[in-house]
Formats: sequence, structure tokens, C-alpha cells
Amino acid sequence: MEKKDIRGITVNKEQDMPEWYGQVVVKGELADYSPVRGTMIIRPYGYSIWEGIMGYFNGILKKRGVQNAYFPVFIPKKFFEKEAEHAKGFAPEVAWVKGKDEEESLALRPTSETIIYDSYSRWIRSHRDLPLRINQWCNIIRWEVKDVKLFLRSREFLWQEGHCVYESREECDKETLGILDEYEKLLQEILAVPVIKGMKSRMETFAGAEYTTTIEAFMPDGKFLQCGTSHNLGQGFAKAFGISFLGKDKESHLPWQNSWGFSTRLIGAAVMQHGDDKGLILPPKIAPIQAVIVPIVFDEGKEEILKECARIRKALGSFRIHIDSREGYSPGWKYNDWELKGVPLRIEIGPKDIEKKRVVIARRDTGEKIDVKDSAVKAKIAEILDDIQNHLFTRAHEKLKHSIVETSSWEQFLKAIEGKKIAFSPFCGSVQCEEAIKEKTSANSRCIPFGQKEELKRCIHCGKDAYSSAYFGKCY
Ligand SMILES: [Zn+2]
Repeated sequence: MEKKDIRGITVNKEQDMPEWYGQVVVKGELADYSPVRGTMIIRPYGYSIWEGIMGYFNGILKKRGVQNAYFPVFIPKKFFEKEAEHAKGFAPEVAWVKGKDEEESLALRPTSETIIYDSYSRWIRSHRDLPLRINQWCNIIRWEVKDVKLFLRSREFLWQEGHCVYESREECDKETLGILDEYEKLLQEILAVPVIKGMKSRMETFAGAEYTTTIEAFMPDGKFLQCGTSHNLGQGFAKAFGISFLGKDKESHLPWQNSWGFSTRLIGAAVMQHGDDKGLILPPKIAPIQAVIVPIVFDEGKEEILKECARIRKALGSFRIHIDSREGYSPGWKYNDWELKGVPLRIEIGPKDIEKKRVVIARRDTGEKIDVKDSAVKAKIAEILDDIQNHLFTRAHEKLKHSIVETSSWEQFLKAIEGKKIAFSPFCGSVQCEEAIKEKTSANSRCIPFGQKEELKRCIHCGKDAYSSAYFGKCY
């Protein structure tokens, strides 16, 4: 019953990344295309990765004191139009619906600032109501997307959006940056995806925000993937929505606000970053199954093998373990199947292993096989899973480091972008200049790293004063 030829990945990751990516996501059973244009279906295996991400991040939110809530998907037109910059920025992406008896159209949320801040204007009265910090997990509709790229771009996706209100600018700045640090940890420590962290340029700033901070991953095909953003919204939304509070000084004040989010796109980042020609490679900390036990059974002694598998699974109680006891598939077929699904470790148990009181462990990332005494299996598995997690991050981090090219002339800049590298270049920061760069190269600034030494250089494109450098590249 060899089905490998049908199920396996038929293209090389390096040669045809988009096709490879689509095959890995669909054949790995993470997601599927849907009959509705621009939308996707998240399958149980993919959704359990999202559950892992939600579980981890909910822990962070609880620790910080942010509470979860839920607001409607429908946003009244008049709310949407209250903050002019915001309305203008999102206008092309909004889908509108109108019921038979309704007078006014409703927007399907492309983001929830407006509907949430309308409530905040009624909930906030005094400094005692602050800080107010709420997060919601929900779906988002951005209608301009026509062709779906599973997890990366679709008309509807899942995300979290945090919306907080503070008395002072300092508190607001602190949490805007604190959340960005949490995003960085989630990407690097849990998904093993290295990121570049910093500020967005004026052109890339969220519509209606004072400033936007971002974490950006760099994919093996030479494109950036924005993985999470955190915006200081200043007092503009408070003004537009009439949110004010009575301070300790008995005067009325406008509060400061931020919003921040990441989406199911993170699953796509991990898939693209780590996978290989055999399929997915999932980082152990987020893998729904950390190790799969494959019994190597013959007609004789089958019971004994299955009993041993169950015993080993019990010994590994604290890990996410699955026993593949499917009938009618050869061990070889099962190996391929679990490699395609990216399970970090495979544990093989056959008659010879029982005889020698050992198991054979195979690593998904390196293909290495290791004999382990069955008394030591728990400690060894913990050690190897850690090692895989670190190896995936280090490997990706090396690639990222080697992709960065410092450029000081327009020629060098063009060469870096054409070579699918990251150009780190002095930049004046103007919207006009960045639009021209994008027009000419289809690359733009992805991130301006924090803590740069301020020294005057010349902008890579227009030659005007540049006090900082930015990472430039193409993006998803
Ligand atoms: Zn410039």
C-alpha cells in the first residue's frame, strides 16, 4: 500500500518556493483552499498549532493583566469614518454589508479600533478606570485580497488585537514596546523564527497611529514577512471618539492609546522558514505532536510490541506523543507521512529493540538516528527536543545574518535587492522618497532598528540627510 508517490512533495523548496509552500501546507494537512475566492480552510492539524500559539500568548496576557473580550464583526459606517486617516487607510480593504431593513451599511471589521473605542468612550470616566487593557481573538476581513496564499494572505484570517488606554504617554510607550518584545519572544523562542525589530517608516505606519513598531522575519525566498505590529495611537482616536477621563487634578484629559496584533500568518512563517523537500519541520515547542511512536510489527509478537509502545508513551507523559497504530501501512510509509507532517521526533519500536531494551529515535531536522536505552528515554527525548528547537533557530538566524548587506550607494542597493538580499541603507524617511524607491524596485523599508547611533549620512535614494538606516527588501 505505497501511497508515497501521491502524497509526497514533488518540487524542490529552493527551485520553486511558492509551489513547494502550497504543497507542504495542503499535503501536510495544515490548511486547504476553499470554494470561496480569497479564503482558506484551517484544518485540525493547522488549527492545533494556532491553539498552541493562543495558549502561550494568553499566558503572557494574563501575566500582564490584559483581559480577553469580544466585539461584533459589524462596524457602523459612521464609526468607521470618525478618524479620518484611519478611514482613508482602510477604505480599499473594507467589505460592506447592508440588511434589507437597514438604513446604513455596516463594515465587516478590517480591524476593530473604531467599534471598540466607541465602547471605551462610554466605559471610561475617571483616572480610576485606567489603564483599560483588552484583547480579542477574532477573524478579520480584508476584501482586497483576490488570490489566497494559505496563512500568508487571504480575505479572512484569524488574529489577536490588543486595545489599551492609559493616563500618560509614558505608560502607553512602555506597553507598546513591551508587547513588541513579547512578539519577538513568541517568534524566536517558540516558533524558532528569527526577526528584526524596530520602527516602521512614515509610509508604513498604521493608518491613524503616531508610530508603529514591527517584527519582521525574512523568508528563504528573499522576501520579508511582517509578523506582528504594535502601534502607539497617540490621542487621535480618543479625540475622534470622545474618550476622556477626569484626572486626579479634577480636570478632564485625553488618554493615550495603543493597539497591537499578530495573525495566523505566523504559522506560514514557521512553515516557510523551517520546512525542507520532505515537507514540514515543526519546532518542538509548537508541534501538536512532538514525537510519534511507530510500532514495527509482524504477525507474531504484535501484542507485545503495542504494549511496549503504550508503556513508552506513558513514560513520556509530559510530552505530546502519538502512537501510529494504523493497520495496512508499512513502517516506511508511516515514516514518510510523519516526515511530511513535520513531527520533530520519531520513535521506532520493534522486536529487536525490545530484545535489546532500547528504542530508536530519528530526528526530523537532521535525519540522524539515535539508539536510546529505554530506561533513559524520557531524559533523552527532552534533551533532543531542546536541541532541535535550538538548531532550527540557529540555522535560520545564520541565514538571516548572511542575508543583510550594508549599502551606501544606489548601485549597491539595487544589486542587494535584485540578489534577494536585505539592504541596510541610510534613509531620509520621507514618504515621497520611499514611494519612488518602491516604484523603481518593488522593495520598501521594512524596519528601522532601535538604538542606532545617530550620525549624518546621505539617503540611499535621494541623497538628502539621513540620521538612521533602514532594512529594505521585498515583502509578502
Ligand atoms: Zn530619501
